[in-house]
Amino acid sequence: LIAFLLYLFYLVPPIGQLVQGGVQLQQGLAALKRIREIEELPAEPTEPVRVAQGSVEPVGVTFEDVVFRYGDDRPIVHDGVTFEVPPGGLTALVGPSGAGKSTVFALLERFYDHQGGTIRIGGRDIRDWPLGELRAALGYVEQDAPVLAGTLRENLLFAAMDATDEELRRALARTRLDDLVARLPEGLETAVGHRGVLLSGGERQRVAIARALLRKPRLLLLDEATSQLDAVNELRLREVIAEVAAETTVLVIAHRLSTVTNADRIVVMESGGVRAVGTHDELVGLDDLYRELAATQFLVS
Ligand code: ADP
Ligand code: MG
Repeated sequence: LIAFLLYLFYLVPPIGQLVQGGVQLQQGLAALKRIREIEELPAEPTEPVRVAQGSVEPVGVTFEDVVFRYGDDRPIVHDGVTFEVPPGGLTALVGPSGAGKSTVFALLERFYDHQGGTIRIGGRDIRDWPLGELRAALGYVEQDAPVLAGTLRENLLFAAMDATDEELRRALARTRLDDLVARLPEGLETAVGHRGVLLSGGERQRVAIARALLRKPRLLLLDEATSQLDAVNELRLREVIAEVAAETTVLVIAHRLSTVTNADRIVVMESGGVRAVGTHDELVGLDDLYRELAATQFLVS
């Protein structure tokens, strides 16, 4: 720290630029604070995350009265969140922007630790899972997942280098990407991303799902893209989600009516709590907020 401060002072010309120096010092201290915050996060797995070696059985999730804030000086985000996701099938998480949906995923990934209540995955307290094993069991498809510069094959395999050709073929079929591969000039070896063929939003999302499936997740976390999809891509996404949910547990932050109408169970979140749980038909009858979201076709954020 002392060396760092000396270095900062060294950078600051002594005369005439004290104001600027003050700004630099503040920026330096803010950077140090961020470094400390990063250091305090749960440790990353030291081994590369590999395709699950053990069980690939679907796992369920329970949140019991979970309390969470992003920092001691931050507002409470989850104020006693309780819900259950049985193993297998499709569970959708819906609610207005800021309700705490993405935070559910951040806690399941253990990017952060909750401060109260209990989170279980596969019946086991999340704190008792070795982090590497936990992350290997989860597949996470972030909202608007990026396609990296490289070939389509590299994009699919970078988190599952040891997948076989058969597994790759199957993942492509399951995500309805086989048509795309057939259409691309060099198939799987076609460069994609900003230097190559541009994929549509729907295709990018399915590439991200295929990439996650190749790691054989026991629980797939999917944060749907909020951009509009054309009718064909919307139908494909619905088929893909249904097919994946027939094999493993899928927990989706849903922004599309077509996804929730197919869900086995919907958890409606609002301001850090769970407001209602049910099927689409049940919730349309029961819950004003849900009915409102459904009427506007979701797509909030
Ligand atoms: P949703 O996904 O339902 O829109 P989020 O879980 O992203 O909601 O956010 C819930 C609340 O937590 C919001 O008030 C948001 O500003 C806050 N929040 C989200 N992520 C962070 C973060 N990394 N640091 C601090 N606050 C955050
Ligand atoms: Mg979100």
